[in-house]
Amino acid sequence: MFTRPFIDSLDFARRGGELSGEVPVAELSRMSDILADSEGKISYLLRGLAGSDGKPQLELMLDGVCNLRCQRCLNALSYPIKLVSKLRLVTEGDADSSDIEDDEVDNIPAEKRLDVLALIEEELMLSLPIAPKHGSGECEMAVEGLSRSNNPFAVLAGLKK
Ligand SMILES: [Zn+2]
Repeated sequence: MFTRPFIDSLDFARRGGELSGEVPVAELSRMSDILADSEGKISYLLRGLAGSDGKPQLELMLDGVCNLRCQRCLNALSYPIKLVSKLRLVTEGDADSSDIEDDEVDNIPAEKRLDVLALIEEELMLSLPIAPKHGSGECEMAVEGLSRSNNPFAVLAGLKK
């Protein structure tokens, strides 16, 4: 049974904490709308560190595969996840964060009880393509794997070609 991990984010970053594990894709409820099924697992490694500006940061690494729905044929599309996110922990004292904003590091509010799974979901959602599609010619192969009569949408997709 999977237990949701929580961390005290500032404390975790300052002491250089490390947390790793695996999340079943089925636990990522926010993503269920964009997934073709709930197969797969995502490995994560969350580390605390000090950023180049000396401020506490989290580094989140995700590695795994999930099945998105191809927006052309509506069949499952195996999508590899390889993601590294750097997240600067912002406290109320850092309210003026506009000048430390950069492209490589996102700001998130420092929380005493940070929901690690929610953070993983958030970063995954941001990284996934809006309209995932199979490569050209690969949709037909995906359709052949299914019984067409059970999947009217796959038939439609086939007719549109
Ligand atoms: Zn497709």
